[in-house]
Amino acid sequence: MPPRKSHLRVVSNNDRFEVPSITCHICDTSIDSTAPFFDVKLKITSGVNKALDGSKTSDQLEEDIDSLIDELSKRDKKSLEEEVCLERNFQVCPTCRKRILSMLNSE
Ligand SMILES: [Zn+2]
Repeated sequence: MPPRKSHLRVVSNNDRFEVPSITCHICDTSIDSTAPFFDVKLKITSGVNKALDGSKTSDQLEEDIDSLIDELSKRDKKSLEEEVCLERNFQVCPTCRKRILSMLNSE
């Protein structure tokens, strides 16, 4: 009987552990395994201001809700979910971290 092949590789103390390289999500620069990188967590959730403005009658509100339900039912489920709450995690290089921060601070 031939020896069973294992999918697992035994790592001896002499083997070097290779850290997978990371690429900056924004500028595509490869980030060296010894260089710093930054995890960016982005979360965008929707908010609605006008739906419940006390000036509408209950009939108007009902109409608004009906048309909203109608509009939502035509939309792709995935894009709809992302419009309500979109979450992304990605890694960026130090330069792009600075770019993001300056963009946020410039408003
Ligand atoms: Zn970058």
